Amino acid sequence: MSRSPASDPPEGNLYDRLSAGFPADRTKPCFLLSDGRAISYGELEAQVGRTAGRLVAEGVQPGDRVALQAEKTPEAIVVYLATLKAGAVFLPLNSAYTRAEVDYFLGDAEPRVFITDPPAYVRDAEGYEPLAAAVPRAASDLASLIYTSGTTGRSKGAMLSHGALATNAVALHAAWGFTGDDVLLHALPVFHVHGLFVALHCALLSGCSMVWLPRFNDAEVLAGLARATVMMGVPTFYTRLLANPAFTREAASHVRVFISGSAPLLPSTFAEFEARTGQRILERYGMSEAVIITTNPLDGDRVPGSVGYPLPGVELRIGGGEETGVIEIRGPSVFGGYWRMPEKTAQEFTADGFFVTGDVGRVDPDGRVWISGRAKDLIISGGYNVYPKEVELVLDELPGVVESAVIGVPHADFGEAVVAVVQGQGDETAMVAEARRQLAAYKVPKRVIFVDELPRNAMGKVQKNLLRERYAGLLA
Ligand code: AMP
Repeated sequence: MSRSPASDPPEGNLYDRLSAGFPADRTKPCFLLSDGRAISYGELEAQVGRTAGRLVAEGVQPGDRVALQAEKTPEAIVVYLATLKAGAVFLPLNSAYTRAEVDYFLGDAEPRVFITDPPAYVRDAEGYEPLAAAVPRAASDLASLIYTSGTTGRSKGAMLSHGALATNAVALHAAWGFTGDDVLLHALPVFHVHGLFVALHCALLSGCSMVWLPRFNDAEVLAGLARATVMMGVPTFYTRLLANPAFTREAASHVRVFISGSAPLLPSTFAEFEARTGQRILERYGMSEAVIITTNPLDGDRVPGSVGYPLPGVELRIGGGEETGVIEIRGPSVFGGYWRMPEKTAQEFTADGFFVTGDVGRVDPDGRVWISGRAKDLIISGGYNVYPKEVELVLDELPGVVESAVIGVPHADFGEAVVAVVQGQGDETAMVAEARRQLAAYKVPKRVIFVDELPRNAMGKVQKNLLRERYAGLLA
């Protein structure tokens, strides 16, 4: 993998940076829609110009927030790009948020405009004078506010600058070898960094077409794979594909790389995918506060269980002086802090400017990064630290287990006791005995609970906070 030294982030408006990648032939499709229609780069550019003109005419000033909560459509992307072009700050909100949840974000971010019907907003921008040139922006100027999924406490707005997003986009575009000949299968939501920045920016920077799906749907994804050269997804996309017998080696053969992230990819999924298709999923690691942090190489070995090497523009170290500890990162692609939360921001950065990610991991002698879980998921049982991942890796190998989630629940003697929640079937006693053969006694689950489905958020992450709540009384 090529690695250039971390450098200062590029100056200028991110929209100019992205549109510099648009194809010379603007009739080329940007969005390929499932109903057979296409939207060209030229149409996109014209709609962005008019929509930016409308935003400015409605009083949006540089630095103002433009909030959007809507279904995934090409027009949602027009609004995003128009917001950048107008020098304003894009605030996407999960389409599943309730009115009460949205009220919190609107109160906190105080957007100038809140758009809930992007197709109508873009259509009604028709009569407006297009904004000819993007409003000049410095590298440190805010481009987007991304509220973290917030499994504990108040959701925080990560402030991402034009320079940070540009640095990350340029690094990913190079790392994953994007060219104008690629076709990206885009089935991710666009209220989250994965779909909005990681996937979209790679496509726009290379001027390639996207198979644009409102959501993951087996039949549409399978049809899209016949045209796509790159697919990006969360691990559940890949497990769902594998569950479908129509997903064969042949069905995957047009795709040059399948990329996974936002949640851990199980080594068993990696192996099953390789056995089925002959292709090794490329896993990468990121978060709202830094977009992408590490990636497995495009050329070179993709190691299951490892999230690869830090991207150019990211310095990564392990805090705490032990081999395994909390991952800390620094560099021009890292966010500038949490919106209107200076104390929280100060707590989560070290004195020398590293952001403390909250993910626990290690770096092997080869420089590869391995993640063992979230610091807040660490279980302290009888004074011993138990990393859930270590136990999950053992359980996931046992017959009948689709996926396990290991949590700590309150326990009178141990403080916390290790409990496994297993998606799948099996015998509790046998499973505990098998775990005991492989693990020190203090790591072995006191109970194993079988469920049909683990609770997951929109990005496929297992919601351990919900499991901890659900089973809080189990051993109390
Ligand atoms: P979000 O800010 O919602 O994107 O969540 C970011 C979190 O997702 C990270 O801090 C990690 O805990 C987790 N995550 C993302 N990618 C991976 C990955 N490849 N392996 C393990 N965890 C991941």
